[in-house]
Amino acid sequence: MTNPSTFPAATILGYPRIGPHRELKKALDAHWSGAISEQQLLADARKLQDRTVSRLVELGLNAADSSIPADFALYDQVLDTTAALGALPARFADLADADGSVGTAASFILARGHGERPPLELTKWFDTNYHYLVPEIGPETPFTAVAHQLADTIRRHRENGAVLRPVLVGPVTYLLLAKAEDHAPEGFDPLDRIDDAVAAYAGILTQLGDAGADWVQLDEPGLVTDRGGALAAPGGLVERVYRKLADAPRATPGGDGENGGNRGNGRPALLVTTGYGTAGNPEAPGEALAVLAAAGVEAVHADLIRGRLPSASVLADLGSTTFLAGIVDGRNVWRNSLSASLEVLQELQARSGTAVSVGTATSLQHVPHDVGAEDALPAHLPQWLAFADQKVSEVVVLARGLAGGRSAVAAELKEAEDALRERSTFHGVVVPSVRTRLQGLAEDDFVRGPADRRAALQQEHLQLPVLPTTTIGSFPQTGEVRRARAAVRSGSISDADYEQFLKDEIARVVTLQEELGLDVLVHGEPERNDMVQYFAEHLDGFAATSQGWVQSYGSRCTRPSILWGDVVRPAAITVPWTIYAQSLTDRPLKGMLTGPVTILAWSFVRDDQPLGDTAQQVALALRDEIADLEAAGTGIIQVDEPALRELLPLRSNDQAAYLNWSVRSFRLATSGVQDRTQIHTHLCYSEFGEIIGAIDGLDADVTSIEAARSRLEVVADLAGFGFRRGIGPGVYDIHSPRVPSQAEIAALINTALTGIPVSQLWINPDCGLKTRGYEETVQSLRHVVAATEAARAALAVNA
Ligand code: GLN
Ligand code: ZN
Repeated sequence: MTNPSTFPAATILGYPRIGPHRELKKALDAHWSGAISEQQLLADARKLQDRTVSRLVELGLNAADSSIPADFALYDQVLDTTAALGALPARFADLADADGSVGTAASFILARGHGERPPLELTKWFDTNYHYLVPEIGPETPFTAVAHQLADTIRRHRENGAVLRPVLVGPVTYLLLAKAEDHAPEGFDPLDRIDDAVAAYAGILTQLGDAGADWVQLDEPGLVTDRGGALAAPGGLVERVYRKLADAPRATPGGDGENGGNRGNGRPALLVTTGYGTAGNPEAPGEALAVLAAAGVEAVHADLIRGRLPSASVLADLGSTTFLAGIVDGRNVWRNSLSASLEVLQELQARSGTAVSVGTATSLQHVPHDVGAEDALPAHLPQWLAFADQKVSEVVVLARGLAGGRSAVAAELKEAEDALRERSTFHGVVVPSVRTRLQGLAEDDFVRGPADRRAALQQEHLQLPVLPTTTIGSFPQTGEVRRARAAVRSGSISDADYEQFLKDEIARVVTLQEELGLDVLVHGEPERNDMVQYFAEHLDGFAATSQGWVQSYGSRCTRPSILWGDVVRPAAITVPWTIYAQSLTDRPLKGMLTGPVTILAWSFVRDDQPLGDTAQQVALALRDEIADLEAAGTGIIQVDEPALRELLPLRSNDQAAYLNWSVRSFRLATSGVQDRTQIHTHLCYSEFGEIIGAIDGLDADVTSIEAARSRLEVVADLAGFGFRRGIGPGVYDIHSPRVPSQAEIAALINTALTGIPVSQLWINPDCGLKTRGYEETVQSLRHVVAATEAARAALAVNA
C-alpha cells in the first residue's frame, strides 16, 4: 500500500497531449469546423486521457500514488490555469458562467478569437518552440477558485482507481508570463495582483483536495529567468507566496477507504517544479529550492539538464521536503546515459538529508510519443533515441536503480551503454572531411569586404530603383500545391510530372510578380513543405520521422527532423529551381535559403557536441549552396533566420555567448561570396531592439523584419542604433487575411522614412505569403507597389 503523503519515487512532469496518432488535434479541428459537437470532443479527449493513463501504467508508473500528472489541456496549460482562476480580461468578461467559471466553448474564444474579438496573444514558452496564450491582467481582473473542470477530471479518474496529480502553472510564473491589460494604468504590473491570485490558488487547492488529489504540481519555470530568479531569493516574494499556500491545513491523508488518499477540508501536498534552467540565483544553485522547502512545500524539483546541480549544503537542508531530480531530458530525443545518471542520483541521495525521487527535467510535451511508432528511420537510429514513452521507462529504471542499486537494473544500464557506445563510433557521426574543413577555418572565412564598398558594387550590378520592392520568399501554397506534393509522395504521380508541376507553378509566380511590378523577384518556394524540413531532407546527417509530431500551439503540430551526424551536402539543393526561375525573367531573382540557427532551432539536435559546432557544420553546407548559386549567376541570396531570437538564452549572462556563436555561423554561411553579391536576411519578430547589435553583426546587406502590427515601432530603434544597412520593415501584415489599403501602406512607408534614410529602405511584406490565399495577396501586393510608386514620385518632387 502506498502512503499518499509520500512523494512517488518516479514521475514525469507532463506527457504529450496531442495523442500518438494526433487524436486530440484531429478532434479539435473537427470540432472547430463544426463536424463534431463539444460533447463528442470532450468524449474523445477523455478516451485519450484514459489511454494515456493506461499507457503510463504499462510503462511502469503507478496509477495509485500520484506519479501520473493530470496534464490534459485541450489547447494550452496556461489557458487552463486562466480558466481555473476565472481570470478573464474585461473584453471577455461576458463569457464567464454565473459562478465566474470558464467553460470549454469560452476558453476556445480566448484561444482563437471570435468575430471582431481578437484572441489572447500567443508567445513562445520560455526558450522552446511551444506557444502559450498570454494572460492579460489588469487591476480589476477577477481571481476566483473555479477549477471545476480539473476537479472533475481528478474525480473521474479516482473513480477508475487512479489518483492523478493535477498540474497548474504556479502563481508567480502565471503573473510573470502575463501582460498588463490594455487599459491598465501606466506602471501597472500583473505581479501587483499576487495576493489576489494566491487567495484564488488556495481555494483551488482545496477544490482539488476535495476531488481526491493527494498531490498538486505547481509549475514555476518563471523562477529560472533573471526576473523570477530574483524573486526567489530568501525572504522574497516566492517565499511569501508559498508560505501562504503551505500554511493552509493539510487534508488528513488516507481518509477514505482502501484507495487511501485524502477527502476534503484541506490542501493536498505541493510539488513545485522549476524546469528550463536554474531556479533562483544561478550562482547559488539550489538556494531557491531551500526557500520553497522552508516555506513548507512538500516536494521541490530541479532541472538537472539545463540547470545546475543544487549544492550539497542545500540538499542537506531540505529536511522533510522531497527532492525531485529532473534528470531525464524533456526537450530532446536522445537516449539517456543511464549509468552516468544513476551515479549522479546516488550521489545526490548520499549528500542529501532528504528523499530523492526521479523525474524529467521538464514536461515531455516537447518530444514525440514513441520511437516504436517510427517505421522509416535509418536502421541505426532507433536504438539511440528516446521519445516520451522511452523517457518514462528511463525514469522508472533509474528509480529502480536508486532504490535497489546498480545490480537491480544491470541489464538496462548495459543496453543503454551499448547503444551510446555504438552511437559515438558510428560512421556518419564523425565525418573526417567535415572535421578537417572546420579545423582549417580562418578568421577570413567569417569576414566580407567593407559594407559601403559592397553596397556601391551591388547597386552598380543590380541597378535597383530607390525603395526597391520585394517579398519574403514563399507565395501562397494552394490546395493544388499540397495535393501535388502528397501525390508524388504516395507515388500516384511520377517525379517528372511533379517537377513539371513545380516549374509551371514557378513560371506562374514569376509572371505574376512581373505583372505586379515588383523589383526583386522570388521563385515562390512551392517545392518546400517546411523551410527547415526541406533542407534537412537534402542534407546528410539528418533523419525525418514519420510520426514524430510535437505540439506547437493548440491543434498546430510540427514534425522536427533529427540531426544525428556530421552535416554534408551531397548535392546542390535549391540551385536548379533558382536557375529555372531566373531564366524566366530579366529582373533580379533572389536565391532563398534557411539559416543555420533556424535549422537547429526547429530540429532535434545532437547533444554530443556544442550547438555552436553543429551550427558551423550546417553553415558550411549552406556556404557551398550559396557559392553554387552565385556561380550560377544569382546576384541576391537571402538566408532566413526567423528563429535567431527564439534560442536567445533566458538569462542575460548567457546571451552574449549565444549571440557570438549564432552570428558567427551566419557569417560563415554567407561570407564566401564576392562583394557585389547581395546577402539578405529575414527575421520574424518585431521586438528587435534588444538584439539589434547582433543583427548588425550578421553583416547582411539587407534585412527584412516583421513590423506592420507594431506600426513600425522598430524604426525608432533603428534610428537610435544608427543602423546603416539595407532594411525592409514589413509594411503588409500577412498574419491575417485582411487587405491593407494603399493609404495605410503609404502611411507606414512615411513612418519608415522618418527614421531610415531613403537609400537604405526596402519595401516588403512582414513575412512569407505561404499561408495566405491568392486573391488577398495579389490585392495587397498591388497596394504595396502603388504606395511605393507614389512615395518615389513624392521623393522626386521634393528632391
Ligand atoms: N522565406 C520564407 C518564406 O517566405 C521565410 C519564412 C519565415 O520567415 N518563417 O516562407
Ligand atoms: Zn518571417
